[in-house]
Amino acid sequence: MGFTNARIAIIGGGLGGMAFANAAVHVGLTNIDVYESAPQFTEVGAGVNITRNANRILDAYGLKQAMLWKSSRDPPCYMEYRHQKTGEVMGQIDEFGQPSSRQIHRAHLLDVLKERLPSSILHTGKRLRSIEYTGSEYILSFEDGSVSTATIIIGCDGIKSVVRQHLGIGDSPNYSGQVVYRGYVRYEDLSPEVAAVYRKTVIFRGHRKHILTLPIGNDESRTSRIGVIGFASEPLSEWKSESWMATAPIDSLHEHVRDWASPIQELIQGLRKNHTDGRMLKQALYVRDPVDKWFHVEESNPAHGIVLVGDSVHSTLPHQGQGTCMAIESGIALATILRNWGSDDLASSFQLYKDIRKPRTDKVTQTSYEAGLLASADLPESFTETFRPELLKERMRWIMEGDVLAEVYRRGAPFFAKQQAAPAVGEAKVQVQASL
Ligand SMILES: Cc1cc2nc3c(=O)[nH]c(=O)nc-3n(C[C@H](O)[C@H](O)[C@H](O)COP(=O)(O)OP(=O)(O)OC[C@H]3O[C@@H](n4cnc5c(N)ncnc54)[C@H](O)[C@@H]3O)c2cc1C
Repeated sequence: MGFTNARIAIIGGGLGGMAFANAAVHVGLTNIDVYESAPQFTEVGAGVNITRNANRILDAYGLKQAMLWKSSRDPPCYMEYRHQKTGEVMGQIDEFGQPSSRQIHRAHLLDVLKERLPSSILHTGKRLRSIEYTGSEYILSFEDGSVSTATIIIGCDGIKSVVRQHLGIGDSPNYSGQVVYRGYVRYEDLSPEVAAVYRKTVIFRGHRKHILTLPIGNDESRTSRIGVIGFASEPLSEWKSESWMATAPIDSLHEHVRDWASPIQELIQGLRKNHTDGRMLKQALYVRDPVDKWFHVEESNPAHGIVLVGDSVHSTLPHQGQGTCMAIESGIALATILRNWGSDDLASSFQLYKDIRKPRTDKVTQTSYEAGLLASADLPESFTETFRPELLKERMRWIMEGDVLAEVYRRGAPFFAKQQAAPAVGEAKVQVQASL
């Protein structure tokens, strides 16, 4: 009974897959493997903001010190808004409480998530090509010609998921109307006054565009730098690439902000100093509607099935910094349900996972879209004197205060093998199983 010893294959070793693997180890799922297509575990981009709701979970895994070693530490506010032309401060959103948000380089976050995972379960160079069910197990075929087996497959292979396709989910992404430019600036490449501006998360807010900067890392571990994320409305005909690796000239971003305040002009110069080829990452942002199908269970064996976690099922625009955070929440929800389930009825366990997660991730998707319109002043009422950043805090409070684990234990109690009190997320102990 239950799925503690089920053979679990995690497809995709990005932030979502590695977060699920940590959740699995934490709760005591004993037989997991991670299959990542890239030759090594790696992440690109301009850093990521991990907010309170997800940090509480990472801290429960015992990763707090590892995070703080390479992330920002207690930033002075959650977000400051500035006028694009004058540079004047328009207001700020205060932090939502402890643990506060942490800004970290994506590669460093991946290192943190690797820290507690046995290397024997991590497999690179494994691009999943197909899944076949034999009647007694799944056969996973990889592009390098190798095969592996599992009884439960967790699809964490991102927005273009092969696992998702295997579930028959048709994909019709819609262009959000914006592209995103990403790069880094070193603090030492800026004047001290301007460097000080960027020691917190800042949005310079223009009409139908905005520049977001994140204060990545810290001085003690020599990881501090500014993550620059420029959102701009551009016709789709000019840039269709969804690839995280595509680059464009820094000039293209500069074109959007030539007449903006001096801290932005220095920031552009800083980008040029750091990216000596004059290019930065550029990606078109697409929106995917929430999907209804999250899982599949084999009719011939109710304990064998496939389920999705992270961008493969609940991708969102990045305007509330929640894509990775939602994957972290989904990971602990699913792992806890699988670990505690009191029967071999996998469909019911997956259904509870979906029932708990879908309303929240759908709402995040919708409100992130709205947050993008607000941040880029793309709503008539938001480009006036009435724009009050303080009010935006209330829009996001429900995200930060969500306690996914409490909900899992409350709603899962009738189905769980043993009645257990919900451990406070911040107090739970990490249990690395000896068999891993
Ligand atoms: C501009 C921007 C800024 C963002 N900022 C934030 C932020 O501040 N905070 C936040 O929480 N989120 C943020 N996000 C969202 C976040 O980046 C994603 O939600 C998150 O990376 C999703 O993780 P994932 O593991 O589900 O998918 P991915 O990151 O796409 O990882 C999928 C992994 O699967 C692998 N893979 C793919 N196909 C296969 C295959 N066939 N076989 C095996 N492996 C495969 C890939 O190589 C990859 O490693 C941002 C996104 C963007 C675009």
